[in-house]
Amino acid sequence: MTGGRGRADVRRDENPMLRAYRLWFEHTRKCVGGCKGAGKVKDGCAVGRELWGAYRLARDEKNVAVTS
Ligand SMILES: [Zn+2]
Repeated sequence: MTGGRGRADVRRDENPMLRAYRLWFEHTRKCVGGCKGAGKVKDGCAVGRELWGAYRLARDEKNVAVTS
């Protein structure tokens, strides 16, 4: 089997924001639709933008003061 999850277990108490970010990050590493090496989320594919949107939502829900 290839492309398995390996040791990347998803812990139940994983921070939703970090989890969303990880999902996006992992997508960018295997995406062939433009996300890989795009540098900007907007240059990526629809899936990448959707994952990034989910991350931003999770981030906003935590009311984290981020300036970027
Ligand atoms: Zn993509």
